[in-house]
Amino acid sequence: MDQQQVITGVMEQVTKRNSGEPLFHQAVLEVLESLDQVLKRRPEYVEAGILARIVEPERQITFRVPWVDDQGRVQVNRGFRVQFNSAIGPYKGGLRFHPSVNQSVVKFLGFEQIFKNALTGLPIGGGKGGSDFDPKEKSENEIMRFCQSFITELYRHIGADVDVPAGDIGVGGREIGYMYGQYKRITGLYGGVLTGKGLPYGGSLTRTEATGYGLIYFLDEMLKANGQTLAGKTVVISGSGNVAIYAAEKAQQNGALVVAMSDSNGYIYDPNGINLGTMKQIKEIERKRISTYTEYHPKAEYHEGFQGIWSIKCDIALPCATQNELDGKLAAQLAENGVIAVAEGANMPSMPEAIKTFQTNKILFAPSKAANAGGVAVSALEMSQNSMRLSWTFEEVDAKLKDIMVNIYAKTNMAAWEYGYEGNLVKGANIAGFLKVANAMLAQGIV
Ligand code: NDP
Repeated sequence: MDQQQVITGVMEQVTKRNSGEPLFHQAVLEVLESLDQVLKRRPEYVEAGILARIVEPERQITFRVPWVDDQGRVQVNRGFRVQFNSAIGPYKGGLRFHPSVNQSVVKFLGFEQIFKNALTGLPIGGGKGGSDFDPKEKSENEIMRFCQSFITELYRHIGADVDVPAGDIGVGGREIGYMYGQYKRITGLYGGVLTGKGLPYGGSLTRTEATGYGLIYFLDEMLKANGQTLAGKTVVISGSGNVAIYAAEKAQQNGALVVAMSDSNGYIYDPNGINLGTMKQIKEIERKRISTYTEYHPKAEYHEGFQGIWSIKCDIALPCATQNELDGKLAAQLAENGVIAVAEGANMPSMPEAIKTFQTNKILFAPSKAANAGGVAVSALEMSQNSMRLSWTFEEVDAKLKDIMVNIYAKTNMAAWEYGYEGNLVKGANIAGFLKVANAMLAQGIV
């Protein structure tokens, strides 16, 4: 059997075994399609069944999350954790609380996480989890009760050397705090079982900024390697959550003009540059909709609908909201508007047709697996600090983060070049991430 037949066979099995999980299929297909040259050079991966094993989670947990709302009514949500691959370290990956969360979402994110974590160079395996709980419009007490119920089941499956969840959409410092408190209460353990913790109880400086800052460090490397720089460029960023806000902050620090940001209802266009102080106030403190930005800055425009943001003319586009937010048509619009680079802060925000459009139009493209790995990298640094019982300074963690992102760019670019895909960072990230995990799996036998 040649390598293409192996890939087709594994993909067929994935589709059959995981029916009704299109996002998971999409994520697997992209990785498998990158591996034909790897399998040609390393037939031992095929013999050891690495492909068939790597697409199957080591363990999936689904559980009931019952809680009582402020009106005294019983509510039931569904909780998930997928422990995908532990070949290079304990499972590591965020928890997402959003009504759209289901098995397919958690599995696509968990699968991506395996390769992303490998790219960081740190000893962390891949996992992901979450719930279809919607934190929007919930009171503080409801959020706390939900988080406590969620961890009351999940606690038995996680641990500082077993599986270390973090945040993702809908899960920030507040939710991590409630889950950590309940974990500690049940187990009596004060360890690094969750990352993204608050600073007074074991959190790491720079974790809040890490994904956004890391994205810009990666983008900067990609631009530099192609004779460009961020200074003076106009940037559009979708989302206004953790990743988007800190990507905007670092982009501004590097001299770019961020003119638009969004939430799931609509987007703000402020041609003079988004005021990040206001954005943080609205999103991090008041937890309000982005539309209220115009109350502070009447000259800015608010438009309903989150996809319209991609019609704004810019040099650099940073999708930082959610998966599949950019389709082929929106990508073509960006290309027509003369965009020179796209870097993904969200996980898998560009559909396959969008990626193809970027590549045919010679737009520099930084895939999420590589470009947004800064968050999990600093989470792993938080684990190190927890184990050592010490805290590094902001500058120390930031310098390590930058180093890691520069290395990821180099590794990804090099792997693309070595396997005949020069300049294609999608292939490079998939290949470099896969090689590390596959070699570890090979060494550990059929497990
Ligand atoms: P947040 O919850 O902080 O923010 C999410 C942002 O995206 C909000 O502005 C939200 O708008 C918007 N959004 C969410 N879902 C949708 C949707 N279905 N359609 C349109 N807009 C949507 O999440 P994060 O910033 O943490 O995560 C954003 C992305 O980055 C996700 O893809 C996540 O997986 C990825 N990521 C996050 C990391 C982290 O460290 N936090 C690490 C690596 C990747 P609204 O408020 O209206 O819902």
